[in-house]
Amino acid sequence: MDFHYLTAHEIARLYRRRELSASEMTVAVFSRIEELEDRLHAYITLNKEQALAKAREVDEKLARGEELPPLAGIPVAIKDNICTRGLRTTCASKMLYNYIPPYNATVVEKLLAHDVVIIGKTNMDEFAMGSSTENSGFYPTANPWDTSRVPGGSSGGSAAAVASGEAVLALGSDTGGSIRQPAAFCGVVGLKPTYGAVSRFGLVAFASSLDQIGPLARDVTDCALLLQAIAGHDPQDSTSAPGPVPDYQAALRRELKGIKIGLPREYMGQGIDPAVRQVVEQAARQLADLGAMLEETTLPHIEYAVPAYYLIATAEASSNLARYDGVRYGLRSPQPADVVDMFMHTRSQGFGAEVKRRIMLGTYALSAGYYDAYYLRAMKVRTLIRQDLLRALEQFDCLLCPATVAPAFRQGEKVADPLQMYLADITTIPVNLAGLPGVALPAGQAGGLPVGIQLVGRPFGEDLLLGVAYAFEQSTSHHKLRPQL
Ligand code: GLN
Repeated sequence: MDFHYLTAHEIARLYRRRELSASEMTVAVFSRIEELEDRLHAYITLNKEQALAKAREVDEKLARGEELPPLAGIPVAIKDNICTRGLRTTCASKMLYNYIPPYNATVVEKLLAHDVVIIGKTNMDEFAMGSSTENSGFYPTANPWDTSRVPGGSSGGSAAAVASGEAVLALGSDTGGSIRQPAAFCGVVGLKPTYGAVSRFGLVAFASSLDQIGPLARDVTDCALLLQAIAGHDPQDSTSAPGPVPDYQAALRRELKGIKIGLPREYMGQGIDPAVRQVVEQAARQLADLGAMLEETTLPHIEYAVPAYYLIATAEASSNLARYDGVRYGLRSPQPADVVDMFMHTRSQGFGAEVKRRIMLGTYALSAGYYDAYYLRAMKVRTLIRQDLLRALEQFDCLLCPATVAPAFRQGEKVADPLQMYLADITTIPVNLAGLPGVALPAGQAGGLPVGIQLVGRPFGEDLLLGVAYAFEQSTSHHKLRPQL
């Protein structure tokens, strides 16, 4: 039997019928990794022994007839900026090459309580800064659909692992698109939850007012299952939202009749690859056929989203990354002359070029005399963008737009031009600035590469988004396409 492309819900059914064991499944995933990792480099650290032990534990519980959570025994990959107790967590940075967290992120605790099998830690752009996984301090990850192309970023390792069968599910983090953009580039489903819906405790901070952890999966049902397992209030995260978590599986079975979907016109014009535009238009027709009402809408301030984001995110990063000083974590430059020398050398050796660029940009934006002109103004623009989106979402239940401006680009194509790399984030960044949920899902192909659409919802409207995404998915077959590896 070929296990690589089974979904979590299919695997769960096979486990319960005793047609497959968690141990067999876990072994199959590790042999897939062995077969493909030379070409893909989706992982930084593997967790083989512990994974196999967990799988055996699940098999024993199943043999005893215990009632287990739906994700029990499912192989899951974790992005390497999410803390795992006893398992190296590097953020793909030389700065943390040897960092072994003494605690688990809340999402990891929750997954362990659900008896998932943690396969390993996935590659990413260093400290989640980037859109291609080429900023990893170790090695780039390749796109499983075309290994000369990037998988997207910063959760590129997670997306590539799920797309290639090196994991069944994965966690990523999304500060400005890092779940949705790699999901689109790799032809999988990726969801960024509402800010506060999932605990950030144990997520290594990049830009704290924007960061969210979320699921990557091979279909919408799996995405809903993983979100269900990680969502909910956490007293350890002061920005975590109180209140009950909806039943996301129940939310999948919804009628689209009467649902109003807005199409922001700013996303259908200049700068969008014609092939991507076609896919979005086709998806709009498909949703209309399913009974949804589609209408054009407008987000007048959206063109300022990228500059506002790159001021706010870098400002927060410059502050968050001050803690890597050679004293408390990871790397320490050897034999410094004095303490200042130690800070300087540790930081110049430990951080890569993109991280340094962001620290400098952010420090500048926050410095006396420039704060009002840059940071404060960016925060005002952020409010305008949030108002644009919330106004549109008063009229519509959700918005439909491209997940990315174009399909996956070539390795090396944009590394030398950070501005080009930043500008491509226009489709995903407004959602983070406004703190809203967004889901990217496969909706077509262009030149053999996956193309994704994005649905954006109201605060805590993940249930509606998943329902619309599921109805679309079930009426098409895009989610069944797999890369030829
Ligand atoms: N590409 C964006 C950046 O480089 C978003 C990254 C992210 O979401 N972590 O900042």
